[in-house]
This record gives sequence, C-alpha cells and structure tokens, in this order.
Amino acid sequence: MATSFVDKARISIHAGRGGDGAVSFHREKYIAAGGPDGGDGGRGGNVVFKVDDHMSTLMDFRYKRKYVAGTGMNGQGKRCTGKDGETLYIKVPRGTIIRDTETGAIMHDMSSGEDWIAARGGRGGWGNVHFATPTRQVPRFAKPGLPGESFDITLELKLLADVGLVGFPNVGKSTLLSVVSKAHPKIANYHFTTLFPNLGVVYVDDGVSFVMADIPGIIEGASEGAGLGHDFLRHIDRCRLLVHLVDVSGSEGRDPVEDFDAINAELREYNSELADRPQIVVGNKTDLLWESRENIEKLREHVESLGYTFFEMSAASHQGTRDLVKECARRLSELPPIARYEADYVKPEPKVDTSGELDIRQFDDLWVVEGPWLQRLIASINFSDYESRMYFDRILREAKVFERMEEMGVKDGDTVSMYDLMFEYKD
Ligand code: GDP
Ligand code: MG
Repeated sequence: MATSFVDKARISIHAGRGGDGAVSFHREKYIAAGGPDGGDGGRGGNVVFKVDDHMSTLMDFRYKRKYVAGTGMNGQGKRCTGKDGETLYIKVPRGTIIRDTETGAIMHDMSSGEDWIAARGGRGGWGNVHFATPTRQVPRFAKPGLPGESFDITLELKLLADVGLVGFPNVGKSTLLSVVSKAHPKIANYHFTTLFPNLGVVYVDDGVSFVMADIPGIIEGASEGAGLGHDFLRHIDRCRLLVHLVDVSGSEGRDPVEDFDAINAELREYNSELADRPQIVVGNKTDLLWESRENIEKLREHVESLGYTFFEMSAASHQGTRDLVKECARRLSELPPIARYEADYVKPEPKVDTSGELDIRQFDDLWVVEGPWLQRLIASINFSDYESRMYFDRILREAKVFERMEEMGVKDGDTVSMYDLMFEYKD
C-alpha cells in the first residue's frame, strides 16, 4: 500500500519559557541615581489545540514530532514588560483524543470545537522595580523567567459521526455516501479504494441532518490484525448507528448471508459492544438482480429473524436511498448523543530532587532564594490549588530551606522572594 491513513501520532509539546525580569535604574539628567525601573519578563506562549474541520487524518503529525511555543521576551528598563511569547496553535481533526503517552490517560477529547490549552507557558520573571522600597538597598537583581509545561502526548483520531457504514469492500459504501451527501469519496470497482475515512453531512429535512462516515472496508480477519480493518474499526467506536451494507447481486460469487455474518463476527471480535450497536442492514445493488431474488430474500429472512431492520437499495441508481436516510434520521432521534470521552488524566506531583544547592541572599529585610530545583518546582506548582500549596510548603520544609534562613538570621515579617512568589516570613 503506497499511502496509509494516519490516525495515531505521538508528539511532544513544549510551552514557551517566560522572559527574564530586568535590572535597570532610572536615569535622568541632574538626578544622580534614580530608583530601580527594570520591567518584568513576558509570559511564555501556550500550546493550544484547535479543531480544523477540513482535516480528517493526523497525517501532518507524521514527520513533525516536536511542537514549541514562543519564549517570552525579557523585561526592559523604564518599567517595560517583555512581550509575551507567541501561542502555538496545533490543528487537529474533530474527534481527536489527546492522551498522556506514559499513562495512556485521556487529557482531552477535541470534539466540542472549543480550543484547549494543553501546555501553559512559564511566567515571566520579575524586574527589579518590584523590589524597591524606601528603606531597602538598591536592588541589583531581577528574576529569571520560569519554564513552560511540556508533555509527551499521543493523538488518536476517533471520528465523530452519527452513522458508520460497515461492510465488505466493494459493496457500495462510498457510493451511498456520495449519493446522500456532498462528500466525494473515491469510488472504484476494486477492493480497498477507501484508504481515508470520509465524512458527509446528510440533510434530511429542514433542520434535520446527521453525519455519515465511510470507513475503509472491513475484511475477514481484520479484528485479528490482518491487513486493513482492525485499526479502522476504532472510527466507528463513536457512531450511534451502524448501516451494514451487503452486496446482494452475487456479482462476485459471494453469499450475502455469509458476508453479513462474517462482518458481524468481526465487529464482535473487535468489541462486542460494537456488534450490539443499533444496526440497519441494507441489501445493495438490487439493480443487478435480474435473474432471481433468491439471494436477497434469504438475507432478509436471516437478518429479520435476528431482529434487524432490513432495507433494499440500489445506491448507483438512487433507489431506496431516500427511505434509508429517513429511517436513519428516525432511529437517531431516539438514540443517545455521540459519546464524549471524559478526561481522566491527573497531573502528577512534580518530582524534584532537592539535593542541589540553593542560593539564599539577604538585602536588608528581603530574602532572595534561588536555585534550579526551586525554579522547576515553582514552575510546576499550581498556586491556586490548596493541596498543591501544601505540597510546596512540605517540600521546602523537607529541604530545610527555612531552617537555613533562620540560621542566617531571618526575622518575623521579613519578605521572602522566590521567583515570582513573594511572601512574608513567619516562624
Ligand atoms: P465500497 O468499497 O463499499 O466503498 O464500494 P464502492 O462504493 O466503491 O463501490 C464499488 C463498486 O460497486 C463501484 O464500481 C460502484 O459503482 C459499484 N456499485 C455501488 N453501488 C452499486 C449499485 O447499487 N448497483 C451497481 N450495479 N453497482 C454499484
Ligand atoms: Mg469505499
């Protein structure tokens, strides 16, 4: 096969780091030494996912694996804040599931069409303007920006369609879709024409429409991983209703009843829930039934005895397609909406090795604490969440940060500055 449909991709995403704060002093003629006026660094850019309804595969992700948002600019003198880093938008087809690669947990289902922020940019560092007080010595320091979030993620396409067409190759699935919608799937008289799923909107009546998906043909043994098929079944996972097409013309010397059973066995093998999904069975190519109707009657009897609704149709000559569409709409109106996947990803608490040195400096009543592990920790803590704040506090205590400051003479009411955190010291 020359090209194959890409419906799974593993990529890494990196939000931008924040810009550094500036150390700068106000200068003016006739004024000997002005106050600090260094501005803050800009925020790093976020990585944001966006639905693009013109996309139906994850092909774009095949060669590009690393996605990096813009870095925040550094702050400048005269209280100038650095520019925020540019947001990186990543377009995906509707229905893309975003998972954490390591755990497989679902982070988000891109179904609703709303943008989703996947990785947040690092906050910008504070400029020295923040550290000026009338009593304090001139602050000759500013804060570096914080790193942005990074994730290894796996994208998985689960198309959003109300109706999924199933059946052997060449039974007329693509033909049906092209007849009842404006979609233009490739139609040809050989197997496996359809390498990409095609979606079409089927308009039924005023204000009533549904989405139909034509996925590549299922073949026998597909659910055991033979050839095409197995992977593609995931695209009908979300369909509310299956339309099962069977070629009743006998043109390929096939037995319609056997074909029907074989496809349902494949569905069951893949996922028994899928085999029990509401299904309408359609005998197609009735225009070729000039010799006898034996085949189609046998199929009708077989499927009706199993409780399925049976339709006959000639997609090529548009016979029966309208009735089928109406029946689909009627059934859909009674079925629950398309499944959305709930996120179950929980961001793990950051693992930090607190053995590295921290740099603690005192400027009168201001204490500046910095160091690589503290920077990583602060970048990954969500300070609006109580549990996370408690965790942060615990790590600092375990690392004996406050103990060291006491030895250095920190007093109640002094100010402690850690990157973009500033708080009053209390023992
Ligand atoms: P798919 O593989 O299931 O998507 O099948 P296609 O839609 O590509 O059709 C396979 C072949 O069957 C094409 O040559 C179609 O023109 C033909 N075909 C589809 N529906 C009918 C039909 O109702 N009558 C006849 N005679 N041929 C049909
Ligand atoms: Mg096809």
